[in-house]
Amino acid sequence: MASFKVTHPERVVYAEGNITKQDVADYYAAVARWLLPELANRPLSVVRCPHGAEGQCFFQKHHADTLGAHVPAVKLTEKDGDPAEYIYVDSIEGVLELVQMNTLEFHPWGARVDDPDKPDRLIFDLDPAEGVEWKTVAAAARDIRDVLLGAGMESFVRTSGGKGLHVVAPFQRGPSWGEVKTFCESVADALVTKRPARYIAEASKAKREGLIFIDWLRNTRGATSVTGWSLRARAGAPVAMPVRWEEIGRLKTGGAFGLKRALKRARDLREDPWEGMAVSRQVLGELL
Ligand code: ATP
Ligand code: MN
Ligand code: MN
Repeated sequence: MASFKVTHPERVVYAEGNITKQDVADYYAAVARWLLPELANRPLSVVRCPHGAEGQCFFQKHHADTLGAHVPAVKLTEKDGDPAEYIYVDSIEGVLELVQMNTLEFHPWGARVDDPDKPDRLIFDLDPAEGVEWKTVAAAARDIRDVLLGAGMESFVRTSGGKGLHVVAPFQRGPSWGEVKTFCESVADALVTKRPARYIAEASKAKREGLIFIDWLRNTRGATSVTGWSLRARAGAPVAMPVRWEEIGRLKTGGAFGLKRALKRARDLREDPWEGMAVSRQVLGELL
């Protein structure tokens, strides 16, 4: 793809590394092949940062024609029952038009635009408290993987680009959001029961000290999680990176991949670390 022209290409978005708006556009164009399978055709929130990654940023989920000709809208019903138009993308052109509008982060739903009431993936967002060692975070992700395997489900893991890891499992559409949320709650509860000195499944920040919060609450209609290969609007241009299970032990933090390392990875990768995710035929499991 020819270089996509943005306005103010020279504007510095990430001070560290002197990463410009054009660099951000070039990054997304370069990783399109790996980015799009997970991102395309899902209602989407974007994080826009007109003043750079460390300036004031905002989440946007509602569509506007000014976003660009390749950024389509999907009509959805809001929580209060009102109709609204949400953003989605189905092409790299759409992604780049959103970058032109100073988007840094991409946060899709766990459902697709053609049936937003029927999720097709679940997520556990692992949020370690300050001071929790990385090897404990990695072990938590493997614990989730093992419980899911016990329920007959294969799962995938990514760094968040922040402190933690996300464990994601695809499944055939069918169950409601409520059923998926209940399933995820029981996975989290099972792990808290097994290792109460390590895990917590309640959102309460006060009780979290020294523990890993297994955030299962992202599995509701309208909730999002950052997509694989998305940059984060944080210092150092970290990337949420899909990895193979064997890789997590070798990392040091959820921010282990930055823009430059991600670009090299995109070039060198032979196979998608999340190979099989998009074509999985597995069904939502049951905890015994
Ligand atoms: P970290 O590893 O630092 O926790 P994270 O992306 O997992 O990074 P969380 O705060 O745990 O960050 O949030 C999980 C997900 O919830 C995010 O990826 C995002 O999609 C969604 N989210 C978080 N905060 C908001 C918000 N204010 N508005 C909308 N969505 C949000
Ligand atoms: Mn969280
Ligand atoms: Mn998190």
